[in-house]
Amino acid sequence: MSVSEFGFELLARDGAARAGAIRTPRGEIRTPAFMPVGTAATVKAMLPQSVRETGADIVLGNTYHLMLRPGAERIARLGGLHKFMGWARPILTDSGGFQVMSLAGLRKISEEGVRFQSHIDGHEEFLSPERAMEIQRLLGSDIQMVLDECPALPADRPALEASLALSMRWARRSKAAFGAQPGRACFGIVQGGTLPDLRRRSAEALREIGFDGYAVGGLAVGEGQQAMFETLEATIPHLPADQPRYLMGVGKPDDIVGAILRGIDMFDCVLPTRSGRNGQAFTWDGPLNLKNARHAEDPAPLDPACRCPACRQFSRAYLHHVVKANEIIAAMLLTWHNLAFYQDLMAGLRAAISERRLNQWIATHGRQLAPA
Ligand SMILES: [Zn+2]
Repeated sequence: MSVSEFGFELLARDGAARAGAIRTPRGEIRTPAFMPVGTAATVKAMLPQSVRETGADIVLGNTYHLMLRPGAERIARLGGLHKFMGWARPILTDSGGFQVMSLAGLRKISEEGVRFQSHIDGHEEFLSPERAMEIQRLLGSDIQMVLDECPALPADRPALEASLALSMRWARRSKAAFGAQPGRACFGIVQGGTLPDLRRRSAEALREIGFDGYAVGGLAVGEGQQAMFETLEATIPHLPADQPRYLMGVGKPDDIVGAILRGIDMFDCVLPTRSGRNGQAFTWDGPLNLKNARHAEDPAPLDPACRCPACRQFSRAYLHHVVKANEIIAAMLLTWHNLAFYQDLMAGLRAAISERRLNQWIATHGRQLAPA
């Protein structure tokens, strides 16, 4: 079924957890959804069709990286990001704000925007709310994020209040710059550190502007899981029930389970892809390090129940060998496996929510998913 408008349908609830579907002209996104990170117009070590085979409905692209190289105008001339990277399904782009704060050199934030130096060649760039939205429009992104300021935690209340006020002014400008783009969505981002009253103020300010979905930003930056969950509990009741909620940059499997329990619908994280390139595999018994010598003569598959090529065609001994030898196929196989694991995790959670047996699912799988 094709649709012309962006929309969200809530299909089931189990406690605060939700299962649903985001509908876009480029396809449906089953929620809760995990979005693999395709930083520089590629999910590293994966073909787009392989990403799809793992079960992903949507990938994420990074505005900061794409604006620096190869440039948004060039991608637009080449037909847009979907065509350029060979992924026809939905793409969500961030606004570049988080990476400017974490990667770029010499930043100067003003009311107008943020001036910074490229981490690639040091040349000066400027990102304003209007430019962040223009870049995302040029890329052809299906879900576009407002430019926000991400304060480093811990920060004191006056610093968080000032940062939040700036982010809310930028959110209003971002929404105005997004304008009307049929079939595409613009999401606001709740900030406010770990202060519940600021989170509430941020959520209410964004609702007043009006967005197609709401992200929770500024978490998973070292505050700890308990503080993250408490912040979600302070935020989510102030977000609209009939629109998607996205927790940015999260996370470990048990972070995702805990956030879904609190009502989050969408996630992205570099963990499965980055860990895969570092010889780490996620399994239902917890994470495994394939560098470990105990795998050197193990003929068993990584996970006998997994349908990915790493598990169907190869042994733990082979994976150990190619990881130790720094072979390119090690990154390819472990990235595929980890993305398949994350998508299986989401599919299992979606089914459990739909059948209202999430507590039973967590009793079966919860403990093993906790980080080693
Ligand atoms: Zn596998």
